Amino acid sequence: MLPVIALVGRPNVGKSTLFNYLTRSREALVADYPGLTRDRQYGRVQRGERDCLVVDTGGITDDQEGIDVFAKKQVEIALQEADVVFFMVDARDGINASDEAIADMLRKLGKPIVLVVNKVDGIDSNTVTHDFFSLALGEPVPIAASHGRNVHELLDRIDDLI
Ligand code: GDP
Ligand code: MG
Repeated sequence: MLPVIALVGRPNVGKSTLFNYLTRSREALVADYPGLTRDRQYGRVQRGERDCLVVDTGGITDDQEGIDVFAKKQVEIALQEADVVFFMVDARDGINASDEAIADMLRKLGKPIVLVVNKVDGIDSNTVTHDFFSLALGEPVPIAASHGRNVHELLDRIDDLI
């Protein structure tokens, strides 16, 4: 069984974009409309001897339940299957309440977490990334999923974790 990476985070942080980059596919639907990815998507990340599976945990946002319940469901799905969790946040938005709610759950999970700060293209990534230390999930890894920037360094991180 290949190691499984789960991509979690609130809608619109770039989970499907990273999934597509990692799997070089268009399977995961990328859109400006938050929560459009309807189901989990699985893909294989080809890394020579160390292939992984990646799971995009997008789902349907139920307005009645609210964003935190939605986020919680994603984390629960990830809980069952993941060997490593990539928790994605948006560098441009900064930390919001949903990120904090997800971070609280992830800290209790007992699985390796990598905090991924996406969308650092065109901004001062050092300053922005530093802000995310307060989520208490270790050193944030800045990436730009849409450009593939720093994604290899991100994958290198998991070799120490699994
Ligand atoms: P998801 O809801 O977390 O799956 O997010 P998506 O992958 O659908 O992306 C949401 C939006 O963010 C889309 O408009 C993407 O093009 C955009 N996006 C994703 N990654 C990046 C990035 O690295 N930089 C920028 N500037 N935009 C990005
Ligand atoms: Mg998505």
